[in-house]
Amino acid sequence: MANEKVRIRRDIASMSAYTPTTSLDVFAERLGIAAADLIKLDANENPFGPSPRVMDALARLPNMQVYPDPESGRLRELLAEYTSLPAELILCGAGADELIELVLQLFIEPGDAIINTPPTFAMYSFNAPIYHAEVVDVYRRADFSLDLSAIQEAVARRKAKLVFLCSPNNPSGDVIAPADIKALLDLPATFVVDEAYVEFAQGESLAPWVAEFPNLIVLRTLSKWAGLAGLRIGYGVFPRALMPHLWKIKQPYNINVAADVAAQASLTDVGYLLERVRQLVEQRKRMEAAFAELPCLSPYPSQANFVLNRVSGMSAEDFRDRLARAGIIVRYYNKPRLFDHIRISAGTSDQVDRLLETLRTL
Ligand SMILES: *Cc1c(COP(=O)(O)O)cnc(C)c1O
Repeated sequence: MANEKVRIRRDIASMSAYTPTTSLDVFAERLGIAAADLIKLDANENPFGPSPRVMDALARLPNMQVYPDPESGRLRELLAEYTSLPAELILCGAGADELIELVLQLFIEPGDAIINTPPTFAMYSFNAPIYHAEVVDVYRRADFSLDLSAIQEAVARRKAKLVFLCSPNNPSGDVIAPADIKALLDLPATFVVDEAYVEFAQGESLAPWVAEFPNLIVLRTLSKWAGLAGLRIGYGVFPRALMPHLWKIKQPYNINVAADVAAQASLTDVGYLLERVRQLVEQRKRMEAAFAELPCLSPYPSQANFVLNRVSGMSAEDFRDRLARAGIIVRYYNKPRLFDHIRISAGTSDQVDRLLETLRTL
């Protein structure tokens, strides 16, 4: 294996791989069930897909032979309208995932620490070591609420530069109280608040706060509410002082022409898309109520398009496998604090019908 001419980083050589969600076709092959008969509720994707205006726009997609607009100018204007914030504070990424990496690139010097609050979205702690950051885990409490004093203590002790907070949190679905975030912003660190699911939540986005707080970054995406996960388009709202530096390090053509056009078309059809968000929230509420009636599931209250459940009477892995044999794919975590938990994304009303029927037979 070792070759003295080929010397890749030793930390990457010994790192374990992240397991992303599998495509429908791969699941279909693995389960021996036609892809069309599968219900995919494992990755919080939007079962309705994108706005029909996206389909029209992509069918007429011009300029695939030229590089995209490096500034995503028109798209950022539409995002400015959507968020009621100045376009100068908005930067687009190939998914919010790319912006997580960009923030790490901007802040981290080898050995710097970031605060992670598991159980939470895996990409913060997965990306951090690639950019030479040390991850300090401040676990959430048993009910998955944030341990504010432990965060405070860890920021001070480790001189952490960045704190990643997810609200609504994936996978627990809870929103961090704005007052708690406001209190944390007094700390000597920059806070990255990931609002990938904010359109499904009852409260307001914290994005307007970015104009006031120099140490707050808010990340958002069109993957979930706008059904564009496959095209990779997200954005961040950044303090004005960070923008020139982000422009320096961003890949110039990170937003491809299809993603750019699709996101623009979505933002001209916000009412239609938010009506579907409302329907998914309705299905999530229906799932929460139905799961609470089942002996094997204890759901946590969610403000997102998914429900986390503690599983009892069988292992969570077994629960996942039984649903998979019925053609329903849900998310199981082989991770501390989540071994006995299952996350189920909100589906269409037909999909939830079939899910609930199947669950009653387990
Ligand atoms: C899905 C998800 C993302 C990923 O967003 P992309 O824009 O698709 O990269 C980011 N954060 C959280 C918490 C997510 O669940």
